[in-house]
Amino acid sequence: MILATDKILSSPKVNLLGLTEVKLREYICSLGEKPFRAKQIMKWIHHCGIADFALMTDLSKPLRQTLTEVAEVRAPEIVSQQDSKDGTRKWVLRVNGGSCVETVYIPEKGRGTLCVSSQVGCSLDCSFCYTGKQGFQRDLTAAEIIGQVWLATQSFDGFRPRLKEASAQNRRQRNASNESSQSSMKETESISRVSNVVMMGMGEPLLNFDNVVDAMNLMMDDNAYGLSKRRVTLSTSGVVPMLDKLGAVSDCSLAISLHAPNDELRSQLVPINKKYPIAMLLESSLRYIAGLSDSKRVITIEYTLIDRVNDSLALAHELADLLKEVPCKINLIPFNPFSLSDYKRPSRNRIKAFQRVLNEAGFIAPVRTTRGDDIDAACGQLVGQVADRTRRSERYQRASGTD
Ligand code: SF4
Repeated sequence: MILATDKILSSPKVNLLGLTEVKLREYICSLGEKPFRAKQIMKWIHHCGIADFALMTDLSKPLRQTLTEVAEVRAPEIVSQQDSKDGTRKWVLRVNGGSCVETVYIPEKGRGTLCVSSQVGCSLDCSFCYTGKQGFQRDLTAAEIIGQVWLATQSFDGFRPRLKEASAQNRRQRNASNESSQSSMKETESISRVSNVVMMGMGEPLLNFDNVVDAMNLMMDDNAYGLSKRRVTLSTSGVVPMLDKLGAVSDCSLAISLHAPNDELRSQLVPINKKYPIAMLLESSLRYIAGLSDSKRVITIEYTLIDRVNDSLALAHELADLLKEVPCKINLIPFNPFSLSDYKRPSRNRIKAFQRVLNEAGFIAPVRTTRGDDIDAACGQLVGQVADRTRRSERYQRASGTD
């Protein structure tokens, strides 16, 4: 007779890091344990940063033993960590299969924002984005997505010590992993903790829907990171059907990668616009925020300013007109140059002039300060190491002569 536990023991270990409370409860019950154990385990993992089941001292000894045999808590491996002179910190993380993704922490006055990746590479190929030029390999698992938050929290000593013994062990693990990654852990006063998360790193989050939703649920769950729904933002280039689906299952904040006020120009910059044009995208975005539990939230519009491409005053007026009925704030992002692109950053005067038009039309339109460009961590510069299934990176390198 094959017992359930025998079957479990012969399977690969289950990574508990990415399991939502519902999924963890189901898993714990499948081991013949009581459902309330799920909450206890979540708190050890996400509140205390404990990966060793032996240290989860409010679980019974037999359960700790079983978990050690059949489960694990495994985040991506830190390949490198770089600290920018402005306090921005970038990690290169190796995920299952050997590819790498990047995660960036941006300290600002009163908050620390973590920019999290959702895919290895990206299939969408927006013309101003270095990630898009790397091609696409695969979706990240929920454990690999929330693992970025787990690692960043650990890096800033942000876990709550629950037991002396556990926190000492935790500190030892952390020191060992930091030594092995040869990372410099230089703290600056402004670096403190992860208070905000933006799903704006490598990949289009809505194309990895289930895993991104699970990871965001963990970010907002009080038994995990407990971030407010206002502080977890999903940024999309406009996968309209999935945005409608998101409204049914999530309450996170929304950012739209717009970058142009008309379909002709946007289709050149963001090719998915050919499938889901601006009008469809804005209608869907309005439906999304209308369905949120609080009425005060607005959509963040991301607009990368590229010299002589989308930064004219005429386009600024067109943008103001397009968005006049949309409750939004417009983030202006000066283009960050990279080697495979001929685009340039506009002059300060052109950026200011574009901003002025929007301000005069009544919009809040801050110009986003470029952060972390000395460590290639600025917006649109994330590359990781993608085992490209699309051969797109090869084509771009051939075309630019960098092969
Ligand atoms: S901007 Fe976002 S959606 Fe577009 S290619 Fe880059 S990562 Fe993909």
